[in-house]
Amino acid sequence: MRRFFIDPAKVNGLTGIISGAEARHIHLVLRLTKGCMVELFDGRGNIYQAVIQASNRLEISVKLLNKKIFVDNGTEVHLGLALLKGKKMDFLIQKATELGIKTIRPFISAHCAGRNAPTRNRRWDKIVLEACKQSGRPLPLICHPVDEFSNIIRQGVDCDHKIIFWEKEKKNCLAPQMTKHKSIFFLVGPEGGFSLEEIEKARSHGFQTVTLGQRILRAETAAFCAMSIIQFLNKNLDCEDNI
Ligand code: SAH
Repeated sequence: MRRFFIDPAKVNGLTGIISGAEARHIHLVLRLTKGCMVELFDGRGNIYQAVIQASNRLEISVKLLNKKIFVDNGTEVHLGLALLKGKKMDFLIQKATELGIKTIRPFISAHCAGRNAPTRNRRWDKIVLEACKQSGRPLPLICHPVDEFSNIIRQGVDCDHKIIFWEKEKKNCLAPQMTKHKSIFFLVGPEGGFSLEEIEKARSHGFQTVTLGQRILRAETAAFCAMSIIQFLNKNLDCEDNI
C-alpha cells in the first residue's frame, strides 16, 4: 500500500486532509482517487490505514480506518557527522533515516572541506520525509542545523556512551563497546580527518576513540559502515517494531 505523510494538525477524529506536495503527488502523479486505500504517518508515531473519500490537486480527504501507535524502545543512536562535500550529506541523511538513526548533528571541524548553506536543512528535511515514506519509518530522523565541532562535543547529545571514530586508533575496536547502552553518540570526521587537538578535546569530553579496522575508509564509507554496525550490534535491525 502507498504511504504518505499527513500533517497531524489536519487529522480530525476519523477524518483527515492531506495537502501540499503530497496532495499534488497523489492526485496528479499517482492518480489515486476515491476508494483507494493508503497508509498515512504523521511524524509523531501515529500510523493510519485510510481510504480516499475525495481528491483534487490541492487536497485529499481521507477516512481513517484504524490507527497504530509506534513506540521506539531500542537503543537511541545519534550521529555527529562532519560536513562532507557535494551530495555525500544527502546520501548519508537518506541512509541514516532508512537505518533508524535517531538524530544527526552535522558539524564543521578543522579539516572540513564541505560548505554550509542556509537552504541545506530544508533540503535535508525533505530527504528525511521521502526516506520515511519509502522505508516505513514512522518517526522521522531529526537533522540539526550545522554547528561547530567544539559545540557538538560540549553540548552534544546527553548520551551514556560516546565514540569518536579515528583512523589512527590502533587498539579500541567497536564490538566490545556495545554492551547494553540506552543511548550512543558517535562522531565521524571529514574527508581531511580529525586533528590531534580535536581528538584530545573529544577525549576530555568523555568520547572514546574507536577504530573501524586497519584500512582508512572514505568519510562516507566510515559513516555508512559505522551506523550499520552500531544499529546491528544494538539489535536495532532485528525485528519490525524497531524500524
Ligand atoms: N584524510 C585522512 C582520512 C580521513 S577518513 C587520512 O588520510 O588519514 C574520514 C573519517 O572517517 C575519519 O575522520 C574517521 O572518523 C573515519 N574513518 C576512516 N577510516 C577509519 C578507520 N579505519 N577507523 C576509524 N575511523 C575511520
